[in-house]
Amino acid sequence: MDSSQKIKEFVDQAQSIVITSHKSPDGDSIGSSLGLYHILKKWGKQVQVVHPDPAPEFLHWVPGQEVIVDFETKAEQAVSILQTADLIFCLDYNEPSRVGDVMQEYLVASNAGKVMIDHHLHPADFCQAVISETSACSTCELVYKWIEDIDRLEDLDETSGACIYLGIMTDTGSFRFPSVSAYTHEIAADLIRRGVKHYLVHEAVYDTNTVDRIKLRGYALSEKLVCLNDIHVAYASLSEEELKKYNYQKGDTEGLVNQILGIQGIKMAVLFVEKDGKVKISFRAKGDYFVNELAKTHFDGGGHAYASGGVSTESLEKTVGKFVTFVKDFIPKA
Ligand code: 5GP
Ligand code: MN
Repeated sequence: MDSSQKIKEFVDQAQSIVITSHKSPDGDSIGSSLGLYHILKKWGKQVQVVHPDPAPEFLHWVPGQEVIVDFETKAEQAVSILQTADLIFCLDYNEPSRVGDVMQEYLVASNAGKVMIDHHLHPADFCQAVISETSACSTCELVYKWIEDIDRLEDLDETSGACIYLGIMTDTGSFRFPSVSAYTHEIAADLIRRGVKHYLVHEAVYDTNTVDRIKLRGYALSEKLVCLNDIHVAYASLSEEELKKYNYQKGDTEGLVNQILGIQGIKMAVLFVEKDGKVKISFRAKGDYFVNELAKTHFDGGGHAYASGGVSTESLEKTVGKFVTFVKDFIPKA
């Protein structure tokens, strides 16, 4: 039996299903979680969604977002849901550590059957059924494909469809990365036919900036940008103090690293953001530059070839210094 059918059987047999996704939610983790949630609900299943931490404000409009139980603010409830689950979906992550230290413990300890649907490299072996396609543009694309494989597309509607569209849109930078295929556009077309108002999804995500957010981004680009033109690398860093000055809210720096990658001649862009005593790093690349090995080797992270992330417990200054020292090892030799 193929993975799609196997997952369908797991779902048919399950009483209590829990959908999980990675830390620091993005459009794809929220979209795939809630898209699947709406579908499973339609099938009459008992479903809950447990995420490691709350969604940023720019994703609060997503239909069903209020059902997400997050570990950061509702640990007790989240633990009890995981402990009583008999099937756990692991969406948009490839290894248990991506849900964070606290939630990871309960995820791994749970006796529930586990299903992975994901598009990251190197899936860890902790699920009984796996759909892992690293060429897929998003987990949302794979959730759609699963529904198509098991012949249930007629159950997709405007609500679940908007969630799926969201994840595809955000993980592809609005349908522009090389990961976008003809199939990706076929899905978008199908979702629009099913009633999804694609322009409202774009508007809800991209046209709802606060003035503080716009100013913070402007500040980062005008005052903090460093271009290493000889090696086609550009980066910016923001300290905790600088974030505070612009009343930082979760999600305010989302996509900023892509703007840096948009600079003419730049093939690798990096954003360092100091938060809660750690430095969160976002890496982006294009052309013949790749970032996942750099993120993995030096910054305790990983991800995709063109979009990776990592973290550092050293100071912001030291972290940036380390990056400048090592980046040269990860760019193609002329
Ligand atoms: P972002 O820069 O948007 O936070 O992350 C870009 C991509 O890098 C994510 O889709 C995810 O695949 C990966 N990523 C981000 N942070 C981490 C991390 O701490 N560890 C690993 N392994 N991957 C990460
Ligand atoms: Mn994704």
